[in-house]
Amino acid sequence: MTLLPCKDRFDLPGGVIYLDGNSLGPLPKGAAERALAVIRGEWGGELIRAWNTADWISLPRRVGDRIARLIGAPAGSVATGDTLSIKVYQALAAALRMRPGRKVILSDSGNFPTDLYMAQGLIDTIGGGYELRTPAPAAVAGAITEDVAAVLLTQVDFRTGRMHDMAAITRRAQAAGAVMIWDLAHSAGAMPVDLAASGAEFAVGCTYKFLNGGPGAPAFIYARPDIVGEVRPALAGWMGHDDPFAMEAAYRPAMSTERLRVGTPPIVQLSILDAAMDAWDGIDMAEIRAASIELSELFIREVEARCPQLTLVSPRAAAERGSQVSFAFAQGYAAIRALIDQGVIGDFRAPDIMRFGLTPLYLGREDILRAADILGRVIGDGLWRDPKYQAKSRVT
Ligand SMILES: *Cc1c(COP(=O)(O)O)cnc(C)c1O
Repeated sequence: MTLLPCKDRFDLPGGVIYLDGNSLGPLPKGAAERALAVIRGEWGGELIRAWNTADWISLPRRVGDRIARLIGAPAGSVATGDTLSIKVYQALAAALRMRPGRKVILSDSGNFPTDLYMAQGLIDTIGGGYELRTPAPAAVAGAITEDVAAVLLTQVDFRTGRMHDMAAITRRAQAAGAVMIWDLAHSAGAMPVDLAASGAEFAVGCTYKFLNGGPGAPAFIYARPDIVGEVRPALAGWMGHDDPFAMEAAYRPAMSTERLRVGTPPIVQLSILDAAMDAWDGIDMAEIRAASIELSELFIREVEARCPQLTLVSPRAAAERGSQVSFAFAQGYAAIRALIDQGVIGDFRAPDIMRFGLTPLYLGREDILRAADILGRVIGDGLWRDPKYQAKSRVT
């Protein structure tokens, strides 16, 4: 059994308690050295030969296999590259073509805006009377009707941390004949996910949050191995071709999830992600989940005891919550700014949510107790009232 936390696997700055690893994970040890080795040794020294000599060409797949282990997917079923927004578009486009005659994409009103924007953008591009429906999260299971082609849900709500029941909703979608797509942006690296057992057709996610791949790290996409042959890629790029260097005139997709790759992979960023995945060696996701629940319960209890001004907006039941805790506070933006100045980094999501990620790889009970103490001071002493905390930065 691993002893959590494993702070020595990260380069964390001193004097900071980092409660924002759900938004941008910290720098894993070895990642910078790996990037430098790839840039200087491989790119600089090998030049274009590195595609073969350093095996850049198979890096997307090797990294995909490492992610697969954390999300309950078989080796070879996860492709990496592009951004999550692009992967959402690809999964949706493929799903709609698998259910001709059905005209509805079903999501929920709590979904991350880009997922909904991409769905609407796809609908606007293809025409033909498609419709995006976004009921409240609690109503979504009941809204899976027989006209739904694809259900696109993010398992863990980015604002509140509320978690959908992946197995139950997937069963319901499939019973109604719809294709199920899960967005695992706030699940991969946060909790055990059993994609294979869920039976979902597609899953997508990003790697710069709980997986610590760095800003702009490549996204991933999973397609259930038995449906790969039915997946017709909307973005038919050459890296998804069965034999890119045959340079054939016509597109012939790879017979694996690799067909959902598009163009040349970002090798430097993928190398950083590969190094970041070392931090997960020997880690059992069940252990991460147990520690995450312990830290979350502690944080909720300690903050509520100190800050009656804050309202918990995450589910109180641990089983219904991902690996974050959110509180509503009308002056939440200023409060987060003041808190960051005191060395505790969380973030703010409009209109009034103070959001805190719990990441047991590098956070322990003493971090949580200190963070709650400092938050208690920021709120109790009104430190957030300082005018310098009121003007919003572009990124919150
Ligand atoms: C973080 C997040 C995104 C971000 O998409 P990018 O294309 O990587 O910028 C999309 N969807 C969800 C659900 C997210 O949490």
